[in-house]
Amino acid sequence: MDLHEYQGKQLFKQFGIPVSEGRLAATPEEARKAAEEIGGPVVVKAQVLTGGRGKAGGVKLADDPADAEQKAKEIIGLDIRGHVVEKVWIESASEIAKEYYLSITFDRGVKQPLFMFTTQGGVEIEEVAANDPDALVRLHVDPLEGFQPWIARRLVYGAGVEDAGEQKQIADIIGKLYRCFVESDAMLTEINPLIVTPEGEVKALDSKFTVDDSALYRHPDIAEFRDTSAADPLEAFAREKGVVYVKLDGDVGICGNGAGLSMSTVDVVVVAGGRPANFCDLGGGGNAEGVVDALEVITRDPQVKSVLFNIFGGITRGDEVARGILEALDRMSIAIPIVVRLDGTNAEEGRKILAEAAKSNLFVEPTMLEAAKKAVELAR
Ligand code: GDP
Ligand code: MN
Repeated sequence: MDLHEYQGKQLFKQFGIPVSEGRLAATPEEARKAAEEIGGPVVVKAQVLTGGRGKAGGVKLADDPADAEQKAKEIIGLDIRGHVVEKVWIESASEIAKEYYLSITFDRGVKQPLFMFTTQGGVEIEEVAANDPDALVRLHVDPLEGFQPWIARRLVYGAGVEDAGEQKQIADIIGKLYRCFVESDAMLTEINPLIVTPEGEVKALDSKFTVDDSALYRHPDIAEFRDTSAADPLEAFAREKGVVYVKLDGDVGICGNGAGLSMSTVDVVVVAGGRPANFCDLGGGGNAEGVVDALEVITRDPQVKSVLFNIFGGITRGDEVARGILEALDRMSIAIPIVVRLDGTNAEEGRKILAEAAKSNLFVEPTMLEAAKKAVELAR
């Protein structure tokens, strides 16, 4: 389960990691009131479960309560990569001298938590890893040994933090973040940026926090953070329709039958140079009605520019899926292109049905890779 920034910061605070004082607001009026209570300049921050809010206009400084109200008005309702902002976090604005980056992820390959720390914070960590890999210090923690003070020292010195005051504060935060990670059963805790103020004070300006779903029963307080009203409306609609659906950030809609094939399809779209808009699994049945429902969910996402059907018929029959696609095209006006790869049981019949329908936005490709390439090309 992913936590909102303000929820992650609440946990940070419980573990003694310094954060700014703040309040949650759902309306511009509440934002004004929050700013009044906090006093001084504030920052108004969209609370959505996606990164890059700053670049998308979801993080804005405000000089006074009236300005905070105005900025909240601009941010609430904003669509950030398919996530509509319902709440803003108002916190005391910080002055920033430096922006660092600190995270712990669970490295599944090594089966150990992995620390990453760099003084090149504020930007996406993938950029640092690609452009200046030496600037990024990575260190695994043996869970049997647990956290040791040398770990913090190696991270801080390794990244080249020279100021003694910073070294001490960051080392302290590193130890606390580790406790927070372990004791919350987190899969990810990320602070980007971890800032140094002009006065030399270090604090967490942002939080990205993922808790292991399977451990939520041990954390009723964290489980309560789940905000069903802020749940993705598309995912809610899919649940209503009984469609297995996870929204992603790209523009190629995906529909496969079976979780394994659907996941492989996500990979193949990436291999073909595209970005998947979702994961959607028709399941083993894959009857016409199911296909109609899935297409309704997928095409409801305005980011979707093309749809890729990847069907391998076992129990699922190719002709049934083909009929479902045509039925969906009859019932809804779908303007975007649909690429279909059909194989397995009754694939021949299915392809024939689609060919006979001769729809201008329907493309049938012989292989998974060719279909993915076509869908990616059409999404451009
Ligand atoms: P993200 O874009 O979703 O990662 O959101 P962040 O919380 O990291 O904020 C984006 C950027 O806004 C930060 O990297 C800062 O540069 C800036 N920012 C956020 N809070 C403050 C603040 O209190 N003061 C100042 N000056 N800038 C801030
Ligand atoms: Mn950030």
